[in-house]
Amino acid sequence: IMTEFIYFGPGPAKLPTEVLETMQKELLDLNGSHVSIMEMSHRSPEFNTVINSTIDKARKLLNIPENYKVLFLQGGGTGQFAAVPMNLIGRTGKADYICTGSWSSKALKEAQKYGEANMVHKKLEKYGSIPDPSSWCLNPEASYVYYCDNETVEGVEFQFVPETNGVPLVCDMSSNIFSRPVDISKFGLIYAGAQKNIGPAGVTLVIVREDLIGKALPITPTVLDYAVMAKENSLHNTPPCFAIYAVGLVFDWILQNGGVQEMERRAKQKAATIYNLIDGDYYTSAVDPNCQSHMNVPFRVKKDEGLEEKFLKEAKALGLLGLKGHRSVGGIRASIYNAITPEHVEKLGDFMKSFKENNP
Ligand code: PMP
Repeated sequence: IMTEFIYFGPGPAKLPTEVLETMQKELLDLNGSHVSIMEMSHRSPEFNTVINSTIDKARKLLNIPENYKVLFLQGGGTGQFAAVPMNLIGRTGKADYICTGSWSSKALKEAQKYGEANMVHKKLEKYGSIPDPSSWCLNPEASYVYYCDNETVEGVEFQFVPETNGVPLVCDMSSNIFSRPVDISKFGLIYAGAQKNIGPAGVTLVIVREDLIGKALPITPTVLDYAVMAKENSLHNTPPCFAIYAVGLVFDWILQNGGVQEMERRAKQKAATIYNLIDGDYYTSAVDPNCQSHMNVPFRVKKDEGLEEKFLKEAKALGLLGLKGHRSVGGIRASIYNAITPEHVEKLGDFMKSFKENNP
């Protein structure tokens, strides 16, 4: 039998096979234009159709209200660590950060270049939990409250939307956007690098409430200025055309597969398959059960480097790829984004069971 290779890497991550096949089919000639998406002008009517239909699909999938702009920016998630404060902190000069893992901590550090950015709770000594909201010291004068919905490295995911008493809420959803429904109206801004759940690297989706736009610090680079990009439909300069096109195909795929409701149902099923095998003895998790991620599942094998190496080697031989934990935390990490099916996760689960039996 032929080995089926399944890529469980954290990002750039697996894309739906159907999407890759569509790209392949359309690569030399996009919709009878005789030109590849990678060759055509970003000012052409063809590309205009691509970007506008991609925005429409995002609106439809997430029920994005009229008073929010949908932007496609460059610079990745890391670009938004800077763009968020540069565009939003000017109102009061202050911002509040909830830091539940590596990415939100990096975002805070970046924001401190542009204003008074504060962590609203005691710094966590190790990641794996969300400090109780009753302990957060939120400043009513903050320009915004920032958090990361899913910490990709540590596998910590919010199961609730923080209450900020009217202060605009900003969220990094890079690694779980489109994996469940969200009430966009609760947020001032949501952003996501595409390369996990919605496409290839090179484009970052920004959903921002209109009234927050237009107060950027004067030093803000034009390409990161939400007002400029909103006014010019993300076409102030050459956008990442191919990546935007690819995101559109992934949105089609999500729509055809039941939308974000169905993605959520699958995510719960997939996550349960793995967490049910994390017994706290042979396989262990460092994350509190109330915030275990449905997208990234880090775990240890008997807390033993030697055994983990063996696990990774044998997994690879079976076609289960990309399972090594982040270099900062070690261990194993299974990233099970939308494009990973419940059947794929069953295969990983079967391997976890047999590995445990064979290596007591
Ligand atoms: N936020 C999250 C939650 C991420 O997972 C990542 C990347 N893995 C980033 C931000 C940084 O994104 P980028 O590499 O696109 O700058």
